[in-house]
Amino acid sequence: MSYQIAIDGPAGAGKSTIAKAVAKELSFVYVDTGAMYRAMALLCIRSGVSGADETAVTGLCNGAQVEITYIDGAQAVILNGENVNPFIRTQEVGDMASTISVYKGVRDKLVKLQQELGTKENVVMDGRDIASAVLPNANLKVYLDADVKVRAKRRYDELKAKGQEADLAVIEQEVKDRDYRDMHRENSPLVRVPEAVLVDSSNMTIKEVTDKIIELANDNGIPRH
Ligand code: C5P
Repeated sequence: MSYQIAIDGPAGAGKSTIAKAVAKELSFVYVDTGAMYRAMALLCIRSGVSGADETAVTGLCNGAQVEITYIDGAQAVILNGENVNPFIRTQEVGDMASTISVYKGVRDKLVKLQQELGTKENVVMDGRDIASAVLPNANLKVYLDADVKVRAKRRYDELKAKGQEADLAVIEQEVKDRDYRDMHRENSPLVRVPEAVLVDSSNMTIKEVTDKIIELANDNGIPRH
């Protein structure tokens, strides 16, 4: 039996940074499920398929080969034999991921892959539906949230640090739109399941959030490996 930690929450709450740090501390495998939706989104963009065309999107995704490997300890998404990590972190891909992740056909394929990973290894998995759909029996479920203004500011700082132009008001609206889509979709919307521990990272450092989750893991009998 493997140990499973599920971390769900909205975009920009710090899930991937925190999940990575927790996985490192416990010597667990980190599984970034958003990257899988992003890889499917990239495929749609490259193929010129409209995100609104459910049949075309689902057909394309079902025909694609998606694998997860670890290169120097970091997760890489292999799409039809190509490591697509360098191409999936753009705003365009993120928005397309949010658009196509509403489709059941897309979710079913990726959830199956995520569940396989979750039974093979001790995992820290982050996403939107991990506690509610992917790993319903996870040993620890965390809902990581932060104020929308804080999340928009983090995204703004990230872009500025990369030397990119950014408008805080526009980013805040994009974050709100993404939240709305993720929380109101019919298939596996982002929800906080009743048993998930709420951690609000608005006024916490990365270290404080990581320490808090490690403490929760200890309280739940999850050992280090
Ligand atoms: O977390 P990240 O921003 O990489 O996710 C991109 C998009 O993929 C999210 O906005 C969400 O719509 C979708 N997603 C999802 N279920 C997950 C992970 C991500 O629907 N488990």
